[in-house]
This record gives sequence, C-alpha cells and structure tokens, in this order.
Amino acid sequence: MLNHFFNPSSVAVVGASQTPGKIGYDILNNILQHGFQGTVCPINPKAKEILGLKAYPDLISVPSHVDLAVIALPAQAVLGVLEQCGRKRIDSVVIISAGFKELGPQGARLEEDLAGLAKDLGIRVVGPNCLGLIDTKSALNASFAAGMPLDGHIGFFSQSGAMCVAILDWALGENVGFSRFVSLGNKMDVSETEMMLSMQQDENTRVILGYLESIDDGPPFMKAARRVAQEKPIIVIKSGTTAAGAKAASSHTGALAGSEHAYDAAFKQCGIIRARSMQALFSYAMAFASQPLPKGGSLAIITNSGGPGILAADACDRSSLHLSPVQKETADRLRAFLPSTASVYNPIDIIGDASHERYEKTLRVVVEDPLIEAIVILLTPTASVDPTAVAREIVTLAKDADKPIMTSFMGEKRVRAARKIFQDHGIPSYDYPEDAIAALDAMLSYSQWRERPERQYRNFKADTRQVRHIFASVLRQRRHDLIENEAREILRAYGFRLPKSQLARTTKEAVKAASEIGYPVVMKIASPDVLHKSDMGGVRVKLEDHAMVEEAFFDITANIQHRQPRARILGVMVQEMITQGKEVILGITRDMQFGPMIMFGLGGIYVEVLKDVSFRIAPLTVESAEAMIREVRSFPLLRGVRGEVPADIEGIKDALVRLSQMAIDFPEIIEADINPLLVCPEGEGVVAVDARISIQE
Ligand code: ADP
Ligand code: MG
Repeated sequence: MLNHFFNPSSVAVVGASQTPGKIGYDILNNILQHGFQGTVCPINPKAKEILGLKAYPDLISVPSHVDLAVIALPAQAVLGVLEQCGRKRIDSVVIISAGFKELGPQGARLEEDLAGLAKDLGIRVVGPNCLGLIDTKSALNASFAAGMPLDGHIGFFSQSGAMCVAILDWALGENVGFSRFVSLGNKMDVSETEMMLSMQQDENTRVILGYLESIDDGPPFMKAARRVAQEKPIIVIKSGTTAAGAKAASSHTGALAGSEHAYDAAFKQCGIIRARSMQALFSYAMAFASQPLPKGGSLAIITNSGGPGILAADACDRSSLHLSPVQKETADRLRAFLPSTASVYNPIDIIGDASHERYEKTLRVVVEDPLIEAIVILLTPTASVDPTAVAREIVTLAKDADKPIMTSFMGEKRVRAARKIFQDHGIPSYDYPEDAIAALDAMLSYSQWRERPERQYRNFKADTRQVRHIFASVLRQRRHDLIENEAREILRAYGFRLPKSQLARTTKEAVKAASEIGYPVVMKIASPDVLHKSDMGGVRVKLEDHAMVEEAFFDITANIQHRQPRARILGVMVQEMITQGKEVILGITRDMQFGPMIMFGLGGIYVEVLKDVSFRIAPLTVESAEAMIREVRSFPLLRGVRGEVPADIEGIKDALVRLSQMAIDFPEIIEADINPLLVCPEGEGVVAVDARISIQE
C-alpha cells in the first residue's frame, strides 16, 4: 500500500535547483545524501546537470520509468506537471508546493482542480503544502528537512510540517530511530487514515506516531484505527479546538459536548493513545518503541533515596498501576545482601550509599519475581554511586527481561553520561519519575485495550414505525423541538420505562389522576413553550394528598401565566413520583466529524457547572457503556456511600445502549436529553422522567 512513496526504484525531482538554500536543491540533495539506491532524475528546463546528475527539461524527456515524482514548483505550475505524470504513468506524487487551500478560497479552487485531475489520472498524492517524506529502510529522504533520522521502528505522520521539523530534531538529539516520516500537508488525497493503514503493513514500523489538527472523515478513521491499534500502538497528539463551538445549544448535552470530547471519545474507543503534550508524545514514543508491554499493572520501584521513591509512588497512585506487593521469597533474597536500614518493600529503597553492584543485585532479583510486571529504577547521584556503571548494569539486565523497565536518573551533570547510555541502548530514561510512570500507565491501558473482550453490541426491538410517524408529523408542522408527550412516545418506542402520567386540565381532573396513579405524585406544567419547567415554577414534587394536588395545580398555572404570559398551557401533567431514585443525565449530540455521540453524567441542576460527564461515539458497545459510567468522577455516588444501597448500574447501561441505537436508527435526531433518568436501587430499573428531543430533516 502506497509502496512507491516509500520504496521507489526511481525518483524524479521536478523543480530541482542548483542553488543551495532553495527547496528544490535541498530535496535533491537529501535524496542523494542519505544512501538512496534507486535512480534519481532532476527536472529543470534551464540546467543540463545538477549535483552531478543529468537534468531533464521535463518529465516526458526522462527515458526510463519513474515511480515517484516530487514536485517543488510554484502552485500554478503543478497542474501541468501532474498532467505529465499522467502521460508518463507515474502513480505516486509528493507535492511540496504551497499556495493551495491554506491560502483561502482561490487556493482551495486550485487544489480542487488538482485533486480532480489526480483522481482522473489514478495518481496518488501526498501533500500539497508539505515537507515531504522519509523512509529509513530504503534510505529515501524526499523532503527538505534538515537531517535524516536514524533507522528505527517509529513511523510518524504529521499534518504540520513544523512539527515534523521539531520531532526530527528531537529524534536526532535523543538518538531515537524512525522507520518513516511523513508530512501530510493539506491531505488533498492521502489522509491520516491511509497513512496509518500503510504503516500497519510496513514491517519496520512498530509504533505509529501522529500529529493531527483535524480528521476529515471520522467513521473510516475509527474503523482503520481500531484495526491498526489491535496490532501496533498508535500515539496521537491532537491540537486545536477546546471551545465547545459558538452555537447556543438548547439541551444540556449540546452545551456540554464539543469536538474535543468527540476526539477524545473516538480515540478511546479505537485504542489510540492520546498524548496531551509534546513531552508526553516523546516519552510515550520512547517507551512503546523500546519496551515490551506490561502484562499487568504491578509495579516495582527501585530507588537509592526516599523522596523520589515517594514521588513515584504518588504518581503510581494516581495512575492505573499499583505498587506490587513483594513476595516473601523476593524479600528474603533482597535482605540477604541489602543493609538492614534498606526497605525491601515497595518502593524498594536500597539507600544512599548504594553502589552499582547493589543496583545490579537488586534489579536481578526484582526482574526474576514473576508477580512484578513493570520496573522503574530511580537514582539520585550520591557520592557513593557511579551512575554510568549503574546504567551499564541496567542495560545488560534489561536486554532479556520480559517486562518493561524505565529509568529516571535525576540531576543533570553527573547523570548525563548515564542517560546517554540509556539512549544508545533503547532504555527509556526520563528526567522525572512521574514521566516514567505516565508512560507505563499509557502502555498498560493500551495493553488492556488490546486484551479487551470481543465487542458486544446489543440490539433491541424498537417500534421504529411509531418514531418515524411522530418525526414526520413534527417536521410537517415545521417544528424542530418535540413536545414532552412526543418525546415520551419516542422513548417508549425504544423500551424506556416512563413514569405513569396523566394530563389534567382542571383541579378536579388532577385530583382524579392523582388517586388513579397513587400518591405521592409529581405535577408539571404541560406546555410546548416551556423548555425548562422548574426554572419557571412549573414543577411540584412529593404531593401527598388531594389538598396538595389542588394547590399545586393553581400554583403551577399561576406561575407560568405570570412568568411566561404567552405560553400556551395545555394543562398540568400529573405523574407517578419515583422515590429513592438517583438523578443521572443521558444525551445525544451530533459531531461534525464523528456523527452521533452519547453523553452520560450525574444529573441534577449542577450538571453544566460540574461538567462531570463522559462521551462515546455511537454505536456503543455494552463495554463502552460501562466504561463511560465508571469514568465520571462522581461514580462512587452511584455505587452508594455510607451504607446507601447501590444504584441500578445495569439499568443505566441498558438505557445508554438503547439511546445509542436510537441515535443510529434516526440520524434526524440532532440533540436529545434525558434529564433526569432516575436510577432506582439495584435490580429495580431506571425511569426516564423528563426528555427533550430536537430533530432536523
Ligand atoms: P425540568 O427539567 O423541565 O425542570 P423535570 O421534569 O426534569 O423538569 O423535573 C424537574 C425535577 O423534578 C427533576 O430533575 C427531578 O428531580 C424531579 N422530578 C420530576 N419528575 C419526577 C418524578 N416523576 N419522580 C421523581 N422526581 C421527579
Ligand atoms: Mg429535566
């Protein structure tokens, strides 16, 4: 896949230049400098020879076949060159040239023309507006980057050329090797999705690294990522957008959603490891590229000083790792040579006078303990220790270990040489223990994602005919918001339990309804014009008898007439009161890139303030429904605190999956809230007491 881009037998540089400092010179020079074995043809109508190679006036004059053309000409000239590529049957082209979509509408039109032509001619294009690409295996550096990364196993693609330059420089500074390096530019044709798939197929790539600003088409990206991540870790840094968008959302879900959540959810669902900073991107890359995945979260910390050990233990506490208990046998083996003041329990503190021999003996014992699944080795450069000697011991022992080993030698001057040894031997080395723990944590969650059970989708019988019927009638009336009754019918069609409800137009009817339903009851204004009923004094709960019902009827209608005189009042809804329920919110929104997105959170009036919510892209598996419930900070409240009975979490899962099916079945739903869904004690189910749904053709 995309093979000619990475392993061509012949390359033409269109716009090759004799003048150092010009892009057309740098590209040709890079191709020649780094050991590429194929044929190279400079194209330039004004030169006979460039950098010792015969130059041709145009592609057509090249006598032999060309696999890959790299174009570095002004934007206006590119279309013509692409035509020549077609005539010469070149199927892979990198367009370095800028001056397209990134410049505005005129450039965008030019890019569209280019894309159309490329498609007609069957030519695949990387770029335009990019830095080029590099493959270390074929020693092809078809870019104007300054330098060539070492051979290695990280494949990198980036939407930003500047980020390529920065990463390359880091890689060179830290001796980190790469398999491929691709600047995607404007992604006119070849996208991040295809690049991921091609790196999955590339034998030399073990870890895929990506810098993204946007994803053009969410669903195929997710599908591909899920497949690729099953085999190779994908680490992505995604910049941009934290704003929830300017639109004034009418639902809570709409107000809380936003594309950041969509990306986050999508990445989680397809196993992508998201780096939150460049620092994290580098440190994850280093860890994933060089260490085996941990089989579990049981961590041992080896240190020669207390403070850093505690820092690491704290970081471990905040992660999904845990400090491994030290088995008696291991403790005994350690005690045999450690001084009595040392701690053989985790963090294993071999104290300030530890020498490299003590490090070596300790590490040997710890590596052999099968219950320990990952190791972080800390060192502060005391006078009694030779950090380089310790580094050498670690490198030797780590070679055959079947568990990840990370190091953090703190300080600078006295540990510099040791860090260099780690770099040269592919042992991740971090300035601070927290970074080592964070990288291990990322590895653990990836390995757990990979081992997760087979995805389970549940399918419910739903009365879709009824739903279609209601939607059609709403749209015919030129409305977008469903009134309460309609929303209730939709939820009923999807098997949600609703509280018993009756509309009352008079106090007499209200009293009658209440006794039929059974006390206590709730009463709510029934009006298509009142969006947030309690804000307007339109809800009364816990009404215990006739007198309270009569009074509530007057109060509610008076409140609405007073506060919203123009509201049409249909009457008052008398409703079964769900006691003992905990309030949660469920919702649907639609993301531009990823489509329908499901929200979960603890409900109540503070939901928009606390923002304690989680998101997933629909369709939801049963597992992701469970994960999103557990993800919110207030989850313990559902499990019950201080002797409370636990809430019916199975019921919430079921409701989330039903809602997801509804979002998939009916793309016309643009927003929906169930707020609240009342969650009864375990085994007693959930009840949707209030719902809002908005649709669009
Ligand atoms: P709105 O959100 O428009 O103000 P709701 O129907 O959500 O109106 O009612 C407001 C609050 O009243 C709910 O959040 C919930 O706390 C309570 N409530 C409403 N209906 C019921 C019910 N049937 N049983 C128990 N509590 C209810
Ligand atoms: Mg509500």
